[in-house]
Amino acid sequence: MDLATRLKSAIDARRDELIALTQALIRIPTLNPPGRNYREICDFLAAYLSERGFTTELIRADGAPGDSETYPRWNLVARIEGARPGDCVHFNSHHDVVEIGHGWTRDPFGAEIDGDRIYGRGACDMKGGLAASVIAAEAFLDTCPDFAGSIEISATADEESGGYGGVAYLAEQGRFDPARVQHVIIPEPLHKDQICLGHRGVWWAEVETHGRIAHGSMPFLGDSAIRHMSAVLTEMEETLYPLLLGKQTEMPVIPEGARASTLNVNSIHGGAPEEGADYTGLPTPCVADRCRIVIDRRFLIEEDLAEVKAEIIDLMERVKVQRPSFRYEIRDMFEVQPTMTDKGAPIVRSTAAAIEAVLGREAAYVVSPGTYDQKHIDRIGRLQNCIAYGPGLLELAHQPDEWVGIEDMADSAKVMALVLAELLGP
Ligand SMILES: [Zn+2]
Repeated sequence: MDLATRLKSAIDARRDELIALTQALIRIPTLNPPGRNYREICDFLAAYLSERGFTTELIRADGAPGDSETYPRWNLVARIEGARPGDCVHFNSHHDVVEIGHGWTRDPFGAEIDGDRIYGRGACDMKGGLAASVIAAEAFLDTCPDFAGSIEISATADEESGGYGGVAYLAEQGRFDPARVQHVIIPEPLHKDQICLGHRGVWWAEVETHGRIAHGSMPFLGDSAIRHMSAVLTEMEETLYPLLLGKQTEMPVIPEGARASTLNVNSIHGGAPEEGADYTGLPTPCVADRCRIVIDRRFLIEEDLAEVKAEIIDLMERVKVQRPSFRYEIRDMFEVQPTMTDKGAPIVRSTAAAIEAVLGREAAYVVSPGTYDQKHIDRIGRLQNCIAYGPGLLELAHQPDEWVGIEDMADSAKVMALVLAELLGP
């Protein structure tokens, strides 16, 4: 039997273990926010992986956003060394899951099996992917005990809330230094036949217009910040949105609509703050002296962040020409550069070959509209040889009755095992 066939049957032989591991992970409700049971899931995985020969380390992201004594940000890094020197292949999964939400017909933490599906919050995003990577590593270790290099498996906190208590923290500690780790697979649910090369960029900012308060019966004595903001929004509709739609990327972003630059006005607040539900009186008549919007601008690899910011400043300046009393402020909140791993990178080539060998079809290449932990690996870790690849359908993430397919998990575990054989094998 050739190596690929032996690896595939080693995965098939572990089907029950794959199912049981996925169920065990789903049954630890690692809800974020606030960040529950992080220690429990890290302890569980540490025990599981040390039984299989891994050296494990629990790392708390001390002082990271969200870290507290009540909700400490725990991460697990497990590593196993081969018989000979070589590269390190790292599988990174986030262990946190988002809130349950409404509309479930299954127990969100029951990990019920129905046919080929395992149901539960985090099933596809991304405990199924985490389990698949563990089984892939096990099958590879059994089949090729004299492998070269090393394998790392990490389970990290807070991806759903920006990854600062997880991958960003580990990257800052040098855990993704290219001298230490050479290949990274993030088993996010991008489907078993697709390789996700990266993501678009993000700029979040708060834009505030200023006015002057006055009595609402004599608004001409004041200066309405809401009317100024309305002029800003009108200018966006008339000039900015058409401009953004015209910017199309060469990145293979899915869904198709996200191949253009996009801007979302995340929120708008103006004038007097809203009273609580217990207030039964009327508002007082005032001209709004402040109005704020939060913008969420997603940009393309072809765009430059400085230009993206300049577009908004230019827009505000155009409004100013029309409105003599107009004053504004722009405050940066958050920014992430777009990233896209080269199709010729070793991790991409070996994953593409493995997909073809396991599924009998060519791999598709995609880019994510939103960011995920690859941003930290790229920006802080400076490691470019990173992809997202894993079982499950992205559309099911964060939905009620989230599930992951057992067949899909087994297939992507086979792909991951073949990648290990290609990069570290004989
Ligand atoms: Zn995820």
